[in-house]
Amino acid sequence: DGVMMSALSRPSRMMLLVNPQSGKGQALTLYNNHIQHMLNEAGVTHTLVITAAAALRGPVAVPGQGPHSLCDLREEVLLFLAEINSPLVKHMEDMNWRQNHARELVKEADLSQWDALVIMSGDGLLYEVINGLLDRPDWEEAVRTPLGILPGGSGNAMAASIHHYSGAPPVFSEELLLSCGFLLCQRLVTRMDLVSVHLSSSPRLFSFLSLAWGFVADVDIESEKYRHAGAARFTVGTLVRLASLRVYRGTLSYLPVAEDDGEEDNPPLHHQAPPSRDPPCQNSFHNSCHSNNSLKVRKAESTPSRSTTKAPSGPLDSLLLPLDQPLPGDWVVVPEEDFVLVLAMYQSNLAEDLLASPDSTPDDGFIHLFYVTGGISRAALLKLFLAMEKGLHLASSCQHLVHAKVRALRLEPSSPKGVITVDGEVVEYGPLQAEVHRGLARLITG
Ligand code: ADP
Ligand code: MG
Repeated sequence: DGVMMSALSRPSRMMLLVNPQSGKGQALTLYNNHIQHMLNEAGVTHTLVITAAAALRGPVAVPGQGPHSLCDLREEVLLFLAEINSPLVKHMEDMNWRQNHARELVKEADLSQWDALVIMSGDGLLYEVINGLLDRPDWEEAVRTPLGILPGGSGNAMAASIHHYSGAPPVFSEELLLSCGFLLCQRLVTRMDLVSVHLSSSPRLFSFLSLAWGFVADVDIESEKYRHAGAARFTVGTLVRLASLRVYRGTLSYLPVAEDDGEEDNPPLHHQAPPSRDPPCQNSFHNSCHSNNSLKVRKAESTPSRSTTKAPSGPLDSLLLPLDQPLPGDWVVVPEEDFVLVLAMYQSNLAEDLLASPDSTPDDGFIHLFYVTGGISRAALLKLFLAMEKGLHLASSCQHLVHAKVRALRLEPSSPKGVITVDGEVVEYGPLQAEVHRGLARLITG
């Protein structure tokens, strides 16, 4: 009976989104050589969707204003054209601006036709898919569509994490692809935490992997130019950045996980059928989070001021106050203001060969916050990154490295320029805050 149930709830009609340009540009060849056969063999019906060539890539420099994301730029151009009443508006609206093909496609898709959305690319494409799902009026159901990933990009942190969760020793490149293909074919679905991120003026976004400022974000972006090197781009980028190591100023605060909080288990998903009907796990997480707090202010959940920016879709962020308001008393403000890096992780791997958060599981409900304070030597930082290959950096007892399990965080950079990335993508630079939503999405882990 139970076996039947789990077999029935295994997704068998998959939409497979392939980005032919990701990584070394070999995703389609890899699909033809390995994946197509594997999926057919396992009886998985799948429809291949090749994501369209983008008009432009990466952040662009606007004279006098520094780098802009193309999304911002697109908005500005459209506003300007609308202002002067130009018929070009229509033309510009139809144009494919970098990151959006997959996002738009998922936003409009008839999801009843698909049991799972699987991407074959780097983490960037999964980020688009997730944000497309959360953008839908039916987001609550849409976000429970099982998601899968096959490593085809240069940043394959999510695929490496899924492999890590399987308990197998680390593998790279094509071996990682084969492992992920095999795991995908088993089609076992688990819950996955998503983190909602508020920036100062951009719309709220959802993150499944990481949030970075300082060293890690700089390496991620600077190493884009070594993308032909595949996953090795991060190693090269790390060495280059070490040579010009700098300190980033700002204030970091977080809401810690209470001592006895978070041990409650989410029931395994495949014992519930159909998977799309299970209750939102958020409420239980919520209550437990609040019941452990001694401060009255945290319990005043129903006061209107606690619910922040009203978003058109997606879950409510109950732990965050507006960015310009002071934080409640039970938040921890990190005393240091000089950082070499701030990194929030909710999956285990930061890259194929960087096990940055070895204890992370897809649905533990924690943001694993790491930061390295200023004053660390280059040699010590290099040592940390080398230890991270095996996930041993925390054991190295470096006094500059701090790890905390948190539910929410706020980052207020005071350095005027810098890079912040969410899931490896550049976002608006400036103050931000984030809150984890436990088990909001679904992930095929095998
Ligand atoms: P990588 O790890 O190689 O960077 P990603 O999955 O992060 O791979 O993809 C990077 C970006 O490529 C995404 O933002 C996506 O919008 C964009 N993209 C998708 N399809 C194409 C395409 N056909 N040509 C160029 N860029 C694309
Ligand atoms: Mg997690």
